[in-house]
Amino acid sequence: MAIIASNFKTNHTRKTTAVFINRLNDYLLKNSIKNEIIVFPTSTSLDSFNTVSNLVIGAQNAYATSSGSFTGEIGTFQLNEFEIKTILIGHSERRHILGETQKQISKKYEFYKSLGYKIIYCIGEPLEVKNLGLEKTLEYIYEQFLGIDTNYENLILAYEPVWAIGTGVTATNEDIKQVHTAIKQKINKPLLYGGSVKIENVKEICQIENVDGALIGTASWIIEDFIQIIENTKDL
Ligand code: PEP
Repeated sequence: MAIIASNFKTNHTRKTTAVFINRLNDYLLKNSIKNEIIVFPTSTSLDSFNTVSNLVIGAQNAYATSSGSFTGEIGTFQLNEFEIKTILIGHSERRHILGETQKQISKKYEFYKSLGYKIIYCIGEPLEVKNLGLEKTLEYIYEQFLGIDTNYENLILAYEPVWAIGTGVTATNEDIKQVHTAIKQKINKPLLYGGSVKIENVKEICQIENVDGALIGTASWIIEDFIQIIENTKDL
């Protein structure tokens, strides 16, 4: 079984998200897809969607709080309205563009772990680290586990090399295999790959040893494309 996830980032509106999710749900229903599908819409597009059990809606981000005075943030009070119990934590855009520190990330992780959320936890190295070789890359990645309980039962990992995200440059199969195998030896949790996964390469990537699925941004935002991605991986 594979896990196929779509990260909308700052794309789609409330209206187009609903169209996307309803079409996706229809497709999953009619085609008896067994893989687990997760969609992360923007926080303004979260809602109570009526979906098949293997289509899960998650939050791209939320603050480590129920409610309170945290301008611009949402907490579990808002997520509970839609029974959302899945969250993406540690995405490189939040680390590198929004400036989230490992301390903030681990605090968020602890909070959502304590509430039993399914956590998709992202790790990955920037290009200057990749260029230093595998040993330095793994060192960098392991530092992103600081303060993170890797034994947590509802943890899914996503290896997303920063240089491959949204760039069109996918990591090579050999790169993916090496890093995934090393991480898996240390942490035995489902491990997705993310970084310019496309319709054309999704199956091949998901078949690499120690790859349990894909977290996809750009290539997943058009419903027909995402359905094709699910179609291409349905037998894994
Ligand atoms: C992502 O945002 O997690 C991602 C992998 O993006 P993209 O597929 O666009 O590289």
